[in-house]
Amino acid sequence: MKPATVKRGLEGRTAIVTGSTSGIGLGIATALAAQGANIVMNGLGDPSVIGRLRIDLARTHDVAAVYSGADLARPEAIRDLVAFAKQEFGSVDVLVNNAGIQFVSPVDEFPEDEWNSILAINLSAAFHAIKAVVPEMRARGYGRIINIASAHGLVASPFKSAYVAAKHGLIGLTKSVALETATAKITCNAICPGYVWTPLVENQIDDQARAHGIGRDAVIKDILLKEQPNKQFATPQQIGALAAFLCSDVADCITGASLPVDGGWTAH
Ligand code: NAD
Repeated sequence: MKPATVKRGLEGRTAIVTGSTSGIGLGIATALAAQGANIVMNGLGDPSVIGRLRIDLARTHDVAAVYSGADLARPEAIRDLVAFAKQEFGSVDVLVNNAGIQFVSPVDEFPEDEWNSILAINLSAAFHAIKAVVPEMRARGYGRIINIASAHGLVASPFKSAYVAAKHGLIGLTKSVALETATAKITCNAICPGYVWTPLVENQIDDQARAHGIGRDAVIKDILLKEQPNKQFATPQQIGALAAFLCSDVADCITGASLPVDGGWTAH
C-alpha cells in the first residue's frame, strides 16, 4: 500500500524572504520551504554560491525556489521583486522583510550615507514591499507579513542610533499594518531576535578575541551575550520555526505583535 501523503501547511503558497542568501533569512526560507512553500530568495552575494543554495533548498524540500538580486535600497527594485514573484508563481502569500545591515558609531560622528542606507534597507524597504503585496493579499483574503526587527526594536544600545531607530520604526509599521489589515485575513507581526549565530556574528568573534586579548568563550559570554541573560545565541532555525508558526492557520489571531527571541534580554 502506498504511504499516505500528508499535505504540508504552506503547500501551494508563495513566500518572498528578503535577505535569504545568508543567516536568519536562509533559516526562515528553509523553514517555510519545509512547510511546502515556494520560495523567492533575495539577497546579495556570489551568484554561484546563491545558485547552489537555491537548488539545495528546492531539492531538499521538493518546492520551487527562484532568486532575485533586487537591491532593497531601491524602491523600484522592490516593486520589481514583487512583480517577479507574481510572474513566477501567480501570487505572494507570505512576505518576510528580513534584509538588514548595521553600522556602529557615536551619533555625532554617524556618517549620513550610513544613516540613509540603514533607514532605506532596514525600514523603508519593508514599507515598499508591504505596499506592493497588500492589495492582492486583501483581494484573495489571505496574507502573512513578518518583519524581522530586533531586540533593538524594543530597547536601545549606544552607538547604534540608525539601527535602533529603524528597528523601532519597523515595529511601529508592523502595528499600523496589522490594524489596517485585521479584517482582511492578513496578519502582520514582528520577530525581535537578540543575538543570533549567523556568519555576520561568527566573523566578529575572532576579531574581538584578538582586539581584547581574550578567548572566544569570553568574547561570546562577556561581550556578545552580555545583555542576553540565558548566555546563548538564538539560531536561524529557531527564528525560522517561529516564522513558520506565524504562517500557520492556528496563528490566525496573532497580529500586531512584537515577539522577542532574545533569551530574556528585553525582560530587563
Ligand atoms: P546577514 O548579514 O547574515 O544577512 C543579511 C541578508 O540581507 C543577506 O542575505 C544580505 O545579502 C541581505 N542584504 C543586505 N543588504 C541588502 C540589500 N541592499 N538588498 C538586498 N539584500 C540585502 O544578517 P543576519 O544576521 O541574518 O540578519 C538578518 C536580519 O535579522 C536583519 O534585519 C538583522 O537586523 C536582523 N537581526 C539579526 C540579529 C543577529 O544577531 N544576527 C539580531 C537581531 C536582528
